[in-house]
Amino acid sequence: MKFTPHLQQLLSALRCLPGVGPKSAQRMAFHLLDRDREGAGELVMALSMALESIGQCERCRMFAEQSLCPVCADAKRDSLTICVVETPADVIAVDEAGSYRGRYFVLMGRLSPLDGIGPDELGISLLESRLTEEGITELILATSATVEGEATASFIAGLAAKQGIRASRIAHGVPMGGELEYVDSNTLSLALSARTSIDPHY
Ligand code: ZN
Repeated sequence: MKFTPHLQQLLSALRCLPGVGPKSAQRMAFHLLDRDREGAGELVMALSMALESIGQCERCRMFAEQSLCPVCADAKRDSLTICVVETPADVIAVDEAGSYRGRYFVLMGRLSPLDGIGPDELGISLLESRLTEEGITELILATSATVEGEATASFIAGLAAKQGIRASRIAHGVPMGGELEYVDSNTLSLALSARTSIDPHY
């Protein structure tokens, strides 16, 4: 069955969203056209405003509506520590955990030579200039626990070492509330090697 031209265009456009195939695109389009034209109008407005006003923070590459994102503009944050993450979603996750009060750097990806993603795509020269200009004392490497994430972390640790800056890697291990028997053996082995001492309480 053939769709009318504008409907076909809408279906194709919706499929740019992650995880949306032909069936979900059709369900969304029919819902908006049939049940929620007002919602569809708000979606159009919000999308167009977002595209117009949201860019990248010039210091950390997080999404921002001014030249600096709220974290970089916040004078109360510790300005000597940078936590390096892969995505804006990772910034939100680390910040919501609540224990980190330093600044960030968002790579917007991870090293993956086969996909053509090298240091330039990850803004590494911007990170390097921050290391020299801002007197950074510690770099926390919070990239993912994947082969590429580990390679990215060790590449950046090398840059930090050249400038005499301490780099640390987030620990990988047993999740809170996790039963050991259900933890995979790689994670358990990492958790054992990254064990910490425990203070006895009497
Ligand atoms: Zn920023």
